[in-house]
Amino acid sequence: MIIQKAGKIIDGLYALSDIDLPAYLVAAETPSLFDAGITFMGPSYRKEIRRYLGDENRLRWLFITHAHFDHSGTAPYLKRHIPGLKVAASRLAAEIFKKPNAVSLIQSLSQDFEEQHKTLFGNEDVTFDSLEVDRVLEDGETVDLGGGWTFQVIATPGHTRDGLSFYFPGIKALICGESAGVPDRNFMIHPEFLASYKDYVASLEKLAFLDVEIIMLSHFYILTGEEARNYLKKSLENTFVFSDRIRKYLGDASGNRESVVRRIFKEDYQDTGAIQQAERPYLINLTAKVKAVAENK
Ligand SMILES: [Zn+2]
Repeated sequence: MIIQKAGKIIDGLYALSDIDLPAYLVAAETPSLFDAGITFMGPSYRKEIRRYLGDENRLRWLFITHAHFDHSGTAPYLKRHIPGLKVAASRLAAEIFKKPNAVSLIQSLSQDFEEQHKTLFGNEDVTFDSLEVDRVLEDGETVDLGGGWTFQVIATPGHTRDGLSFYFPGIKALICGESAGVPDRNFMIHPEFLASYKDYVASLEKLAFLDVEIIMLSHFYILTGEEARNYLKKSLENTFVFSDRIRKYLGDASGNRESVVRRIFKEDYQDTGAIQQAERPYLINLTAKVKAVAENK
């Protein structure tokens, strides 16, 4: 099944509204949130957390897949309002959040969204001011949230260098950020190897071995059953097809990356109209993907 709305996924596991942005709540003995959307969602998330946990102060941990603004955005706001909340991420993500440049980049990328969604937070200060990571997660470690909610940390670099995925063997559920691509409106999966094509493929190959019944994607969709079981292999196939296409187009254009970006932008973005990402970030990401393939990194 392809789920396209927020709410209960199974008992104890919830997608917080809005589904366009990732924020998954596990109501375990140690209630925990996985990813934290964009800044403007802060007050809505608190409302949702109260709805599912009763008292928002019960929330103990926020686990972050990677240091992008649309995955970590509300973390500082949530920490300001929920004093007992602690944040866990990869070592690299923890270092990124310490850099003033990274914080200002997150702020500037969040700004457009804050202006468009002012009504969602009114007078509240949702600023991403700084973020201290309280616990560094290592590849392969197991985290026990109590009551049978245990998950494994899997390093999945490639989309970004700091990427982590979280796998719950008990319910065969995976939270993977953009490590397994992003499907568009036609459910065409777009690979997201912004940092490294090779790492992205190696990460996806690791994920493809998992026995999955639930995949909580980073944007728009949750997959269950058949759709979840088929997704990771399909995503890997699409990654090979897409990189072959980039290589072919680079050949056609005598290595001119800019013209390859324009050609794919026209074919995938303008002609289909199926990609939900805004034009500017789409083009920035596409340029990074062409670069990763051109430089074979
Ligand atoms: Zn990302």
